[in-house]
Amino acid sequence: MINIKSVTEIAKMQKAGEITAIAHRAVADAICEGITTFELDRIAYEVIKSHGATPSFLNYNGFPKSICTSVNDVVIHGIPSKNTVLKNGDIIGIDIGVYYDGYHGDSAATHGVGQISEQAARLIETAEKSFYEGISHAREGERVGDISAAIQRYVEGMGFSVVRDFVGHGLGTMLHESPEVPNYGESGRGARLIAGMTIAVEPMINAGLSEVRVGIDGWTVTTADGSLSAHFEHSIAITKNEPLLLTVL
Ligand code: MG
Ligand code: MG
Repeated sequence: MINIKSVTEIAKMQKAGEITAIAHRAVADAICEGITTFELDRIAYEVIKSHGATPSFLNYNGFPKSICTSVNDVVIHGIPSKNTVLKNGDIIGIDIGVYYDGYHGDSAATHGVGQISEQAARLIETAEKSFYEGISHAREGERVGDISAAIQRYVEGMGFSVVRDFVGHGLGTMLHESPEVPNYGESGRGARLIAGMTIAVEPMINAGLSEVRVGIDGWTVTTADGSLSAHFEHSIAITKNEPLLLTVL
């Protein structure tokens, strides 16, 4: 079942989303050569707590940290660690969820560390642009498949591939709600979008093949071929016109 949110609920989700954005900014500002992903996790935790909110991911299905830090060939769900030290040329996907006043915000962005390769820069840019291509179809009357197809078309047109095994999702009082929002598919298919639906649209794209593997820790998802991966995500609310971005300042 898809939960349609009231204006009051969407306002609460904007507040959770705002804290998500503040945490993202703090982490992005701290990213540099030599910092550990453990330290980035602490920064996000402190910012989220200082706003009276809770990190959505901490202890979610046993996830041990507050944010996901996914370096290079890690697609999503990288676990922050004192052993993961960022170095010049790395790319890192930061995924942050915030629970505040009964509602979740969820967003992700991928950043370069120091001087990154041209391919890495193009991959990061493509992930972000594909999100906007997708949400150009996120309005009442269109379907989930219209978002999915637009993302896939853009990413594959840039010579990259779309991850199939993990998808975007509805969210609200729960971090993951219906519907699923794949980053591939056919336009005209899937659930019809209605004003008041709130979804996280999150392209995960690989420089090489689309296949991924889950690591022995049960969380870390990597590209099967070792190629770089980038992730971009915002939580949005469907309206009759342009979608409302919730996880922004
Ligand atoms: Mg996320
Ligand atoms: Mg998400």
